[in-house]
Amino acid sequence: TREELTRSERLAALGQLTATVSHELRNPLGTLATSVAVLQRAGGMAGERERSELDRIQRNVRRCVRIIDDLLEFSRRPNVTMVPLALDAWIVEQVADLRALSPVGLELELHCDRMIEADGERLRQVLVNLVQNAMQAVLERPAGAAPGWVAITTGCEGENVRLTVADNGVGMSEEASQRLFEPLFSTKPFGLGLGLALVQRLVERHGGRVCVTSSLGEGTRVDILLPAANTGSHHVA
Ligand code: ADP
Ligand code: MG
Repeated sequence: TREELTRSERLAALGQLTATVSHELRNPLGTLATSVAVLQRAGGMAGERERSELDRIQRNVRRCVRIIDDLLEFSRRPNVTMVPLALDAWIVEQVADLRALSPVGLELELHCDRMIEADGERLRQVLVNLVQNAMQAVLERPAGAAPGWVAITTGCEGENVRLTVADNGVGMSEEASQRLFEPLFSTKPFGLGLGLALVQRLVERHGGRVCVTSSLGEGTRVDILLPAANTGSHHVA
């Protein structure tokens, strides 16, 4: 009888395939992007219709590149460089970029006065993925729903700091809440299903954990717990 592949072997195989296919797709897409740029520059002979079609091609090429970047990112073992980081101040720095992700109102309630050891670039990927999911869940609600919101809150919990992203979006079905960390699980028409799998992996790499609570039709809350930096010996009264 055939041996069954273990979960980690399957993930490793998926990672390899992903890395290979992503690399292979980058070249033709790069060529496509260059050709579009050339045509756009030669736009003198083009009409309104042609220009708008070229813009559409360009937008979609960019979208493909983003998907490939996500896939590549996911197939790599994340390299992290930890530095001391003041969580609240760091979040405030990210807010302008996060607001640009969507028109939905973004609320902040920051109550964490502790430092963490983190890789800012990785933590940013975590936050962006969570806010993106939250925004999308809010936008998926039927027309006429109450105003949508996404809230980022922080706090201290014992030896941990807590970073929470909550929304009043569509929430999740029973099935979705059981499968949300599965790579490639998505309920969205153009979803890749790598966001939360990556979030979980990156958070674990920081020695933390992810906890999701969701209620269908009401909203979702994702809590990230990260160990607070041990700054006791540096403490100055
Ligand atoms: P993707 O966003 O590409 O679908 P993710 O891994 O980020 O992949 O999320 C997996 C699935 O989990 C989503 O397709 C959705 O069904 C569910 N999900 C994640 N975050 C939320 C949220 N804030 N509200 C409702 N559903 C969510
Ligand atoms: Mg996502």
